Amino acid sequence: MAGPANEVDGLGRCQGGKGLEFLQPTSLTEALELKAAHPGAVPLAGGTDLMVDLNFDRLRPEAMLDLTRIDELKQWWPHDDLIRLGAGVSYTRLVSEIGEYLPGLAIASRTIGSPQIRNRATVGGNLGTSSPAGDALPPLLAAGAEIEVASAGSSRRMPFRDFMIGPKKNALAPEELIVAVHIPKARGPQQFSKIGTRNAMVISVASFALAIDAGTRAISCAIGSAGPVILEAPEADEFIESSLEESGAWDARSRIDNSVLQRFGELVAQGARPITDVRGTKAYRQHALAVIAARTLTWAWDDYMASA
Ligand SMILES: Cc1cc2nc3c(=O)[nH]c(=O)nc-3n(C[C@H](O)[C@H](O)[C@H](O)COP(=O)(O)OP(=O)(O)OC[C@H]3O[C@@H](n4cnc5c(N)ncnc54)[C@H](O)[C@@H]3O)c2cc1C
Repeated sequence: MAGPANEVDGLGRCQGGKGLEFLQPTSLTEALELKAAHPGAVPLAGGTDLMVDLNFDRLRPEAMLDLTRIDELKQWWPHDDLIRLGAGVSYTRLVSEIGEYLPGLAIASRTIGSPQIRNRATVGGNLGTSSPAGDALPPLLAAGAEIEVASAGSSRRMPFRDFMIGPKKNALAPEELIVAVHIPKARGPQQFSKIGTRNAMVISVASFALAIDAGTRAISCAIGSAGPVILEAPEADEFIESSLEESGAWDARSRIDNSVLQRFGELVAQGARPITDVRGTKAYRQHALAVIAARTLTWAWDDYMASA
């Protein structure tokens, strides 16, 4: 876009060609006011999902709300036992700056796209898209993350499980923006694994995240790409927690029996609600989940045994 029609006015508005209004706020307050005035304006973060939709003509918004100039969204800081992660922090920065506090999310972030994608793409964008195949999402559920959203004059926080309500559907109201994610700092080993049709630059056919809380001796699992939303697997969680308790493995830091690993994998697979689509069949996804769940638990438990 070029010429006077693209000039930005005092309210951060830029009228591009063909009637697309490009809103460019420089503060969160301004962005929320613009969103209130233009509830149909589509937020733009890294653009790695959004620009694909625009290029393929799947989306023709009347207005776009460019969030890339808002410093508040690009910040993170620790508070209490949590990390407050601004919605606009890129995966590259997440891995290098806070990976040690959020190992599960960092492992998942390293599998997303390519270095170029990770330099631009954000967790806020993964939440905004709310795809069941979003790789940042299972680690957020397993870690017990909460999503902070705001509109002009108010804000609210909700657990991730209340945020994502369907495939590419979330609880965000038209006048709201995702502001931050509050993620508990890891209290034990965390892991993530995904299956795709090749090793990199791939959409998950199935994914799995696991977080161990070594203090409370709790294990939380989350299943991706095998249901309408990211799924918990409470039966698998309860089974592995009680197996480890009964065998004394928490104190002895001993290996987990193969039969227990296998049963754990079966329970995770049973907790999934996969469909058959172009990326994989229902049966393949269930089989894959049983395998990656047992493998992921082994990796995390190895870390726990080594942390004595
Ligand atoms: C080549 C390629 C490879 C990819 N590989 C992967 C992969 O391996 N795993 C994976 O999970 N994804 C992958 N993706 C998808 C994409 O990179 C991720 O979903 C990414 O997290 C999107 O972030 P973004 O900042 O680019 O979002 P954008 O594209 O800017 O936005 C995505 C959606 O979120 C909304 N949004 C963004 N920020 C906010 C906010 N603050 N408040 C409200 N709504 C908001 C937007 O309006 C839009 O609907 C890939 C994409 C490409 C092009």
